[in-house]
Amino acid sequence: MADYVIPVNSECTVEDGLTGQQLFSECGGLTYNDFIILPGFIDFVADDVDLTSALTKRISLKAPLVSSPMDTVTESEMAIAMALCGGIGMIHHNCSAEYQASEVHKVKKYKQGFIRDPLVLSPAHTVADVFAVKKEHGFCGIPVTENGKLGGRLLGMVTSRDIDFMEESRDAQTRAVADVMTRLEDLVTAPAGVTLQQANKLLEESKKGKLPIVNEQGELVALIARTDLKKSRDYPNASKDDNKQLLVGAAVGTREGDKERLSLLHQAGVDVVLIDSSQGNSVYQVDMIRYIKQRYPDLDVVGGNVVTAAQARNLIEAGVDGLRVGMGSGSICITQEVMAVGRPQGTAVYKVAEYARHHGVPVIADGGIQSVGHIVKALALGASTAMMGSLVAGTSEAPGDYFFSDGVRLKKYRGMGSLEAMSRRDAQGSAMDRYFHSEVDKLKVAQGVSGSIVDKGSVLRFLPYLQSGLRHGCQDIGARSLTALRAMMYAGELRFERRSPSAQAEGNVHGLFSYEKRLF
Ligand code: IMP
Repeated sequence: MADYVIPVNSECTVEDGLTGQQLFSECGGLTYNDFIILPGFIDFVADDVDLTSALTKRISLKAPLVSSPMDTVTESEMAIAMALCGGIGMIHHNCSAEYQASEVHKVKKYKQGFIRDPLVLSPAHTVADVFAVKKEHGFCGIPVTENGKLGGRLLGMVTSRDIDFMEESRDAQTRAVADVMTRLEDLVTAPAGVTLQQANKLLEESKKGKLPIVNEQGELVALIARTDLKKSRDYPNASKDDNKQLLVGAAVGTREGDKERLSLLHQAGVDVVLIDSSQGNSVYQVDMIRYIKQRYPDLDVVGGNVVTAAQARNLIEAGVDGLRVGMGSGSICITQEVMAVGRPQGTAVYKVAEYARHHGVPVIADGGIQSVGHIVKALALGASTAMMGSLVAGTSEAPGDYFFSDGVRLKKYRGMGSLEAMSRRDAQGSAMDRYFHSEVDKLKVAQGVSGSIVDKGSVLRFLPYLQSGLRHGCQDIGARSLTALRAMMYAGELRFERRSPSAQAEGNVHGLFSYEKRLF
């Protein structure tokens, strides 16, 4: 018996693994998959974990989640969903300045339950047009205004009941909507300024499916749909400004024309702008940051992308309020292959965050996030938020239509440096300049690919899953908040370990004939 008793040596230590500093000074460039975090002590429930984190010096979010400014990821619908769930969306700039500003405006004017850009018809449209709308969008409670646009004087509504039995009729081609619609005098409408509760009551009492909202001049300003009201729920963590409007960001470039873009975005109420460049350490970006800080002192600016402390230093000195970190780690990215420049994302995040924290500048870990575990790792390495492209692409809120290939429902997802994205031109003919300067470069060199991604359903379901996963990750580590997580890492309490290729294989599902991976 006594043989098994090992005398306790006072020098015996329970210390294990590596500190962040040791991991990144000893092990070269690491990706998120190359290391693992060792578990800590749990004395709280996962629900208690506080996910509040800084996006920029002045903007804080309840969830550290940001959607990427890509034309297959973030327009107003995605930005609204991101903000409702406590994160923020960055509207892309592969479009005219006017279009981008109107997308920002839609987010700022969003009121839950109110449709701010409803489909509208004019009295001269035909019944066939109504059927076409029904076929394409699946509904047909459509307001009819004098000029066929939102903002025009409301004349009536055309609903299923008005056009029942007419589908087969040849009449449908010629019969004007004005002849069949329910006229204004028979409609229930609500005045601009009506609250959601009041609207709810009106819809309930009238038993109608849609409630047009009109201003004092009788012009249509919004629409409320009964089905949306039924779906609507509370978003207590929504990211909002002092006026209770949702927060939204937008990307800009560094060209002279971007100053006009900035002015429109500012007028539309943008909360933060992000200077979109794959290599942000440039005289163009430094000049742009200075210009924005001087011209719009209230507007927060995120600079980037950077992957080294030396790059970060120049942008911090120029006055950035946040830094976007990543070069070559994105799922659609071929920058490292083509340019031979970049850095594995784990190391990039650690090195830049370590430098930036001494200047109070929060870091966004951008690109290469494939799972909720990668977000936990990015935050554990010092990032304050994580930016996602592929993770939220393919959701119903991402721009673009679904299509089928081999029976699978897909949406397009493409790099902003792909030839396809770079050659998309807006009405004014200005091309995407994140990767391509038309006045300087003769030949486009692609830094990204164009592909597709499987339908993921609504991001409004996916984001709560991510937040729950983050809370569980923090609980296993023993961190009650993201602030505590970073503090533990910098104090050397958080311990890491390298993962060999076989350790990575072991950490994944293995040895099964088949399996289904459902995440929530
Ligand atoms: P993902 O989340 O791994 O899909 O990466 C998204 C990130 O990739 C974006 O936020 C950008 O930083 C980056 N990115 C977007 N388009 C391109 C491209 O064409 N080439 C390289 N990187 C890109």
